[in-house]
Amino acid sequence: MIITDTHTHLYSEAFDDDRNHMIERAIQQNVSRFFIPAIDSTYTESMFQLEKDFPDNVFLMMGLHPTHVKDNYKDELQHVEDMLAKRHFYAVGEIGIDLYWDKTTLGIQQEAFKYQIELAKQYQLPIVIHCRESFNEIFEVLEAVKHDDLFGIFHCFTGTLEQAHQAISYNMKLGIGGVATFKNGKIDKFLNEIDLKHIVLETDSPYLAPVPYRGKRNESVYILKVLEKLSEIYGISIQEIASITTQNSKDVFSI
Ligand SMILES: [Zn+2]
Repeated sequence: MIITDTHTHLYSEAFDDDRNHMIERAIQQNVSRFFIPAIDSTYTESMFQLEKDFPDNVFLMMGLHPTHVKDNYKDELQHVEDMLAKRHFYAVGEIGIDLYWDKTTLGIQQEAFKYQIELAKQYQLPIVIHCRESFNEIFEVLEAVKHDDLFGIFHCFTGTLEQAHQAISYNMKLGIGGVATFKNGKIDKFLNEIDLKHIVLETDSPYLAPVPYRGKRNESVYILKVLEKLSEIYGISIQEIASITTQNSKDVFSI
């Protein structure tokens, strides 16, 4: 069995004390493929270090996170562009719009989002979307740029069934993580109406730990709890969920 965590911030300071042990713990439990979203240029070196330490397991993305679109965003976008020109990354991410933390930057968030989508198209890479309190704004951009060649993942999907169908219509898979295990998470109620071919698994570590670890530091190995929950929702074995969602991750990231 191979389990794929399509979204995990393993370079986070939250893992500074036990990073390599934490990763080895996950690998021992068959969680052996980690896709690493970027945040901004300050993390690039630690992402490269991770890749060096776990070359068979760690796959890097490049991008500017919407909550880090600040006054210096043009320099940050230049960094993203330079990195993409320099070497291979598996996706442009995480990118998108976040209106939970700061609404005043909406204009430049939209600009950065669109700019990075163009980079993804140019390099024929998938995009990994961060969407928080911004479904309408994200869909507006996707509607304007949609194309057969544009595809990716709607990370940490927390919308309605209708929004799920809309995301899928833009060639996006839904990233499902700890929220599916929350009592008030809502998505568990309709997930079985979404074909598993549209689903990938993620933890978003160190954030959003699943029940029973909710509120604690999240780790990639806790993806097993998400797997259990999906097995319950879809009524098929954990092995089968792992195999289908890992295949879906291969289809998106081409590895
Ligand atoms: Zn993230």
